[in-house]
Amino acid sequence: MTAGAQPRNGANLLDYDLEGLAAYCESLGEKRFRATQLFRWIQQRGARDFDDMSDLAKSLREKLKGSARIEGLQVISQQESADGTIKWLFDVANGDAVEAVFIPEDDRGTLCVSSQAGCAVGCRFCSTGHQGFSRNLTTGEIVAQLWFAEHFLRDRFKTQERVISNVVMMGMGEPLQNYSALVPALRVMLDDHGYGLSRRRVTVSTSGVVPMMDRLGGDCPVALAVSLHAPNDELRDNLVPLNRKYPLAELLDACNRYLEHAPRDFITFEYCMLDGVNDTPELARQLVALLRTHGGKGVSCKVNLIPFNPFPQSGLTRSPHSQVVAFAKILSDAGIVTTVRKTRGDDIDAACGQLAGDVKDRTGVEQRIAKQRTVVLKPMSMPPRAHAAKE
Ligand code: SAH
Ligand code: SF4
Repeated sequence: MTAGAQPRNGANLLDYDLEGLAAYCESLGEKRFRATQLFRWIQQRGARDFDDMSDLAKSLREKLKGSARIEGLQVISQQESADGTIKWLFDVANGDAVEAVFIPEDDRGTLCVSSQAGCAVGCRFCSTGHQGFSRNLTTGEIVAQLWFAEHFLRDRFKTQERVISNVVMMGMGEPLQNYSALVPALRVMLDDHGYGLSRRRVTVSTSGVVPMMDRLGGDCPVALAVSLHAPNDELRDNLVPLNRKYPLAELLDACNRYLEHAPRDFITFEYCMLDGVNDTPELARQLVALLRTHGGKGVSCKVNLIPFNPFPQSGLTRSPHSQVVAFAKILSDAGIVTTVRKTRGDDIDAACGQLAGDVKDRTGVEQRIAKQRTVVLKPMSMPPRAHAAKE
């Protein structure tokens, strides 16, 4: 890496989508089209050094060397699972770290990308949420995860072909609470001069930041996953605290508005299966009723049931497989396409909600969540497991 030869305080070109890079080139007195060449060198060829960009005029290369840098993230660690999953931990300074996970499958390669160090939403079942919020990632830090992983994997597989075909914003953080950095990063992923990913293969996952769902639909519609986890407000308030601000009815209205722009004609609802908490047949039936009838016409959707990935502080356990199957059957029988997510990278803690980075608990969030838990565990609409087993 030759980044050391670049000015430390110059513009980091990973922070720009093509439009931003064109504006930057103009600010250097260069023609906008130069940006396309530069962008391709960086994103498609993984160049880190301006001297390697052989078809750029020497004068431009000199200007760039004096004013700009291409600075990725330092890798703290890389872990590989027996199933081919690779997890990287990246240093984002000041004791913070974020993770990205590559998941190879027969017909695709998916990268799970982080949007924040920590997360302010504080879902009970999520390890990132238990850390509290540290800070938003910059566009460059979001893009750098893909930039690094794609070029690392091309080297590893000795190919010039694209290895990562899908990106899911399902790593650490709530992407729609980092909107201004997210959108240019999505544009880099989608741009034909960047990674050229199809809008249908870039998925933003949100816990339900309603106003930003509307903005995303207008600014940069990509596939949308909404983390639902409960079919009624009482339960969802406790699992996903953001529900108190944007309750289910508003969230599902926003889903229907999003569908007017979405590249796919359905929303994916994620539902993390928590033993004895949200996994009973009664709640499955409530979920069917909600998704079928909301607003009169329901919501066009698929449901993805996620086996809970336990971590010690959560106080929660994974639903038994039989309970997941029974829940899925109720949804499928009602005509809702339902899948159960395969757990990947189990041996390296690379699954959803286990991404912990190296972030310290700096906000007392553990205590806050512990308090919430006390509230949740009082008797409410959660039938005891014995009752559930009879269904
Ligand atoms: N903040 C966004 C995206 C990151 S979380 C969101 O909440 O959608 C990505 C997915 O992992 C979400 O569906 C989330 O609910 C799920 N998840 C979080 N913790 C989990 C855990 N411990 N086990 C299984 N899934 C989890
Ligand atoms: Fe944040 Fe998503 Fe984790 Fe909830 S599930 S705490 S929104 S990262």
